[in-house]
Amino acid sequence: LSLSLKILGTSSATFTKERNQTAQALKSNSSYYLIDCGEGTQIQLKKYSIKTNKIDAVFISHLHGDHYLGLFGLLSSMSLKGREKRLSIFGPKGLQEIITIQLQASQSCFSYQIDFQEINVDTITQIYQDKNIKVEVFPVYHRIECYGYKFTTLPEGYKIIKSTLPKNIPLIKIKNLTKGKDVILDDGTVIPYQKHTTPPPAVATYAYCADTRYALEILPYIQGVDTLYHEATFTEEFANRAETTFHATASQAGLIAHQAQVKQLIIGHYSARYKTNEVHLQEAKVEFDNIIALNDGDLIQI
Ligand SMILES: [Zn+2]
Repeated sequence: LSLSLKILGTSSATFTKERNQTAQALKSNSSYYLIDCGEGTQIQLKKYSIKTNKIDAVFISHLHGDHYLGLFGLLSSMSLKGREKRLSIFGPKGLQEIITIQLQASQSCFSYQIDFQEINVDTITQIYQDKNIKVEVFPVYHRIECYGYKFTTLPEGYKIIKSTLPKNIPLIKIKNLTKGKDVILDDGTVIPYQKHTTPPPAVATYAYCADTRYALEILPYIQGVDTLYHEATFTEEFANRAETTFHATASQAGLIAHQAQVKQLIIGHYSARYKTNEVHLQEAKVEFDNIIALNDGDLIQI
């Protein structure tokens, strides 16, 4: 199983003509997982042809508006389109109440069931698993309670090499080969798994860290992931502002990627004062080589 990531928004606080507020759609198999949901996210989903009915779960990092103000509108549209499938929503305390109050005010209810789970953890903790992925949540360090998420594809079995497999093996025993076990036939013949399978593909890992100051505390949670998203609101010119607002600079994002020995870094959440992300990219590159400065609409393979 692989993961791909559609970038729906890369602006912080306010949107610009080119940049929407933060949201990302992670895809595994045919399921989508929405990470944060800034205002206008449902318009971005439409623009990039992502069907909202394919979204199985939503993960909200914190309750600053640029990360969740699009949620109620999206949930309402799902209902207007007659969604029946349950939806899981994860986020800090308060999110469920915010959604419920809006429903009560309009004396309405959705066409589908929402499973809310309020997050309150001080270390990395698994909160979700389905047939594609497992998700862990961990604290990051912002002005208000804020969480990062780590997504991992489920391990797969050994892959059978059909061309070398003797014809007389019962189906039930082939399953053992996919688990990496030898098969012994009734006549005593040993069928070694190593000869007839290839090892399982590695799992894919993606860690999402927004919004946060530069924090060594998160290193154990993101160590060695395939792709790390780290916010990079400011360039060095505004390093002081990054510190007072509990945001990171691009070079700090690069530094944490280097320290965590991740394979790839992607950055975003740029302050609306920047017209381009060229300086962000340059400054982060000093610390870490394999980096993409995201733009809205980018598709990242993990
Ligand atoms: Zn933000």
